[in-house]
Amino acid sequence: MKFGIHLSIAGSLESAAWKARQLRADAFQIFSSSPRMWRESTPAADDIAAMKTVMTRYSIGPLVIHDNYLINLASGDAVIREKSIAAFRGELQRAEMLGAAYLVAHPGSWKRLTPELGMTNIASGLAEATAGLGRLGVTLLLECTAGQGFTLGSRLEELRDIRMMASRGMALRIQFCLDTCHLSAAGYDVASAEGLERTVDEVESCLGLENVPVIHANDSKGALGSHLDRHTHIGKGQIGMEGFARILQHAAFQDKVFILETPVEREGDDRRNLAMLRRLAGQRSRLPLRS
Ligand SMILES: [Zn+2]
Ligand SMILES: [Zn+2]
Repeated sequence: MKFGIHLSIAGSLESAAWKARQLRADAFQIFSSSPRMWRESTPAADDIAAMKTVMTRYSIGPLVIHDNYLINLASGDAVIREKSIAAFRGELQRAEMLGAAYLVAHPGSWKRLTPELGMTNIASGLAEATAGLGRLGVTLLLECTAGQGFTLGSRLEELRDIRMMASRGMALRIQFCLDTCHLSAAGYDVASAEGLERTVDEVESCLGLENVPVIHANDSKGALGSHLDRHTHIGKGQIGMEGFARILQHAAFQDKVFILETPVEREGDDRRNLAMLRRLAGQRSRLPLRS
């Protein structure tokens, strides 16, 4: 079991790796370019090398990349679709440059279409985005969503179906990323003992636990089934301390990489959330727990 956190690359890739080291994180997640702009930036070769050096020296990894929020491969709008395919191709190329193990992506929104059409669009969009790239080292992880508005992926069956449709004849490996906040907001009761067992069973039968290498660890501000995507500190939301202790100590998740995407409202929130995960998992905190 590994614990990591989403980090900013505003300074540089190298400084993100140093931040991971400072926090004693096992792994980390980044955006490889600005997540709310279509214009992409290309990371500098020396910065990539410096990041990799820090990661190797301190055995930090895997590197996880989260894709741009603007990308919507499900869209029926020709302009959005074209931009999304180009941007997703860029995500894959940067992931390869950075040596990322995983690229996490939200499936997309079927607004003005049907869910089925949206899913078909994703499958064909992925095929277009990967065309000619050859065999990629990175694995795409389709993330479960809170189900706000018209977003796909709030039911595990949808994730399974998208993967099934997309996998035909494509070289890109596809697996899944679960998010504890999104699961709860989508109506999967991961907070109670009974609900967690039911959810684990559904994950196993629908996706296969071996196809879920990464889990986003976020508590949920919104109530169970609220479809609100609002992350909060571990133990301070709908899932709570007891809920997270059960998740983190569950046999099904002992080989997973947990990545925090919790807010940093006060200095040290990142360190405290990481320490909380380790404590609830039964690991000794690697840093003294300051209030
Ligand atoms: Zn997430
Ligand atoms: Zn979220």
